[in-house]
Amino acid sequence: MAYLCNRRFFIFSVFFFLLSTLTLYSESQPAFKVVVLGAHGGPKDCNLSSYLLAPKESNDFIALDAGTLLEGIYIANSKNSFEEIKINPDSDLAFEIEILRNHIKAYLISHAHLDHVAGLVINSTADSKKPIFGVDSTIDFMRDNLFNWQIWPNFAGEGKKPWLNKYQYKRLKIGQQIPILDTEMRVEPFLLSHPNGYQSTAFLIEHRDSYVVYFGDTDSDALESKKHLEKVWKKIAPLISQNKFRGMFLESSYQNKRPTAELFGHLNPKYMMEELNNLARLVDPVNPQTALKNLKIIVTHIKESVFKGASSKEIIEEELNALNNLDVQFIFPEQGERLEL
Ligand SMILES: [Zn+2]
Ligand SMILES: [Zn+2]
Repeated sequence: MAYLCNRRFFIFSVFFFLLSTLTLYSESQPAFKVVVLGAHGGPKDCNLSSYLLAPKESNDFIALDAGTLLEGIYIANSKNSFEEIKINPDSDLAFEIEILRNHIKAYLISHAHLDHVAGLVINSTADSKKPIFGVDSTIDFMRDNLFNWQIWPNFAGEGKKPWLNKYQYKRLKIGQQIPILDTEMRVEPFLLSHPNGYQSTAFLIEHRDSYVVYFGDTDSDALESKKHLEKVWKKIAPLISQNKFRGMFLESSYQNKRPTAELFGHLNPKYMMEELNNLARLVDPVNPQTALKNLKIIVTHIKESVFKGASSKEIIEEELNALNNLDVQFIFPEQGERLEL
């Protein structure tokens, strides 16, 4: 009897050991893939904010912002970042146009500043029918100031007529998570502060209970009264505790030496680390210093220096690594490269 009990206990233990190992294994596996189409925030006009995101096993991407599209797709293809995508051999289209038309299923635009939409406007003639997601202010500004037959033909389905109806505006509502058609992802928007009361957006993307968050341009909560970032931190803190959170795209536009009055609604390494410490305290108030250990942070929107000497990226990388009291994993994306989260 004792032998049987021991044997049952042994089988039971092995079963639970395997189950917990499997769970840990799947939680540590990447859930998303990213192709970097544009990594910076200007002034160079060929590498502006845009990131393709898809579940790891899918080739149906969304574009998070669209500052640079086709140029980034060409560079990504030269780096084999789309190697698992097979195109119909009978197609006479260039591979890169096939990616633009058939593998970008939707645009999610954080705000309508040109460094986030220029590629979408210029590439619209070569693009296919698809939705553009944004909050009301983003859609209104694009409708009134971009696709208006003055700056560019109206490829959308609102505003100045005639409508070419290639793009369908989809207005996101705060507090609502909705599916992104033709993909296996869902999105919930959060408002962010940008200069002079201008609204920018963060997108929380979900795929089968795994999450990433993409931040458009944002002020620090220390410098504005609405505390928009705190609302995002409160949403994602429990997801981090439950091992459901895979990483974030967060901007650090300027070096620390730039005066605060000239940040124009952007973060620098100092404010980025303050914000990450705010998040860490929400995740684990007792041991905040280990709460975000190894969390992947893709550092976006670095503004290139106009001066001789070290690049802004080199300096911001040095500044962030020196301030990294949380052991987060900073990733400094290169245009065309493929990442996993
Ligand atoms: Zn902006
Ligand atoms: Zn920007």
